[in-house]
Amino acid sequence: MKAVRFTATGSMSLQEVERPIPQRGEVLVKVLAAGICGSDRHMFKGEYPTAIPVTLGHEFCGTVEALGDSVSGLALGDLVTVDPNIACGRCRACSKGRPNLCAQLQAVGVTRDGGFADYVAVPQAQAVLLPPSLNPVHGAFCEPIACCLHAMDKADIRPGDTVAILGGGVIGLLMVQLARLSGAGRVVLVTRQASRRSTALSLGASHALDPGSDGAVEEIVGLSAGGVDVVIECAGVAETLQSGLRMLRRGGTFVLFGVAPQGVAVPVLPFDILVREIDIRPAYLNPFTHRRAADLVASGALDLDILVTRTISLTEVADVVSQAPQPGEIKVIVRP
Ligand code: NAP
Ligand code: ZN
Repeated sequence: MKAVRFTATGSMSLQEVERPIPQRGEVLVKVLAAGICGSDRHMFKGEYPTAIPVTLGHEFCGTVEALGDSVSGLALGDLVTVDPNIACGRCRACSKGRPNLCAQLQAVGVTRDGGFADYVAVPQAQAVLLPPSLNPVHGAFCEPIACCLHAMDKADIRPGDTVAILGGGVIGLLMVQLARLSGAGRVVLVTRQASRRSTALSLGASHALDPGSDGAVEEIVGLSAGGVDVVIECAGVAETLQSGLRMLRRGGTFVLFGVAPQGVAVPVLPFDILVREIDIRPAYLNPFTHRRAADLVASGALDLDILVTRTISLTEVADVVSQAPQPGEIKVIVRP
C-alpha cells in the first residue's frame, strides 16, 4: 500500500509500505478521506513532537477492512471516524476524567501511523461508527469538530449571548456555526482575509470584521453594548490574545483555543482581568467529544462543503504539508 512517510524534520515522501495487520483489539481502516491540519505543518517543521518515522494524518474517515482478534461491535464495511487521541486510562489525569491531559497520551497520526495512507490500523475503542451513507469527506471533519465541541462546552454560551470568534481558519469557521447552534444572538468573526469574512457571513455570522481596520475592538464593544459575553480565540497570535481580553464585557469568558508557539510570552493586564473577573478557559483536544462530533456531522447541521477548498491524492500530500497554506485555502482533503 502507499503511505506518506514523515522520516525527519522537513522530510516527507510517498512510499510503498507493508499493509498493517490489525493486532488484538484493533481494526484496519481503509482511508476514504483525510484532512490536512495546521498541526501537520507544525509537525513537519519540528515544532510539535512526533514519532519518527511515522505516517501523519489524524483527521480521517474510512471503512473497516479487517478485524483483529477479540474485536466486537464493528463489522467489515462499517464507515468509521477515528478519535486519534489514545489516553492511558491509568494516570492521575485519566483517573480524574481528564484524558486530554493524559501523561502518556498517544495519538494516531502523531506518535503512531495515521491516515495519509491507503490503510491504517487503530484500536477499536478509537473508532466511532458513522451512518453508511455519510459523505466520507464530512466524516473527516469529526476530529477538528470534536476539539471545537470541547471549546463550546468551556464557552458555555447562553441563548442570546454575543460571541466573538477571533481567526477565520477552518476552526474559526466551524466555531461560527457551532456558536450559532448554541444559541448565540450575535456572532462576530474577526479575520484578515475578506473571502473568509464573506464565508463567515454566509455561515451565520452576524458581523465579520478585519482586525486591521481602525477601531475594530471598539466597534465590537459598541455593537454588544459594553463588550461580548464570550471570546473564542482561534488564531493563536499575540494580537488576538490581547484584543480578545479587551473586547469582553465584565464577567465575560475567554476561551483559549489557538496554539501560540511554545515559549512565546504575551503581555496582558492582570488588573483589568481581575477587576472585570474575566474567566480564562483553555480548551485542549477532544475529551469525550468525538462521538458527539460524529452525531453532529451525521445530522447534517453543519455546512462542511464550503470549507473544502481543495481535494488532493496521496501523491500531493508532502508538497501541501511542506508549504504554507495558499491564500484562500481553508481545508485541504486527501482522498487516497
Ligand atoms: P489557521 O488556518 O491557521 O487559522 C488561524 C487564522 O487566524 C489564520 O488563518 C488567520 O486568518 C487568522 N489570523 C491570524 N492573525 C490574525 C489576527 N491578528 N486577527 C484575526 N485573525 C487572525 O488554523 P486553524 O486550523 O483554523 O486553527 C486555528 C487555531 O486553533 C490554530 O492555532 C490551531 O493550532 C488551533 N487548534 C487548537 C486545537 C485545540 O485543541 N485547542 C485544536 C485544533 C486546532 P486570516 O488570514 O483570515 O487572518
Ligand atoms: Zn493517562
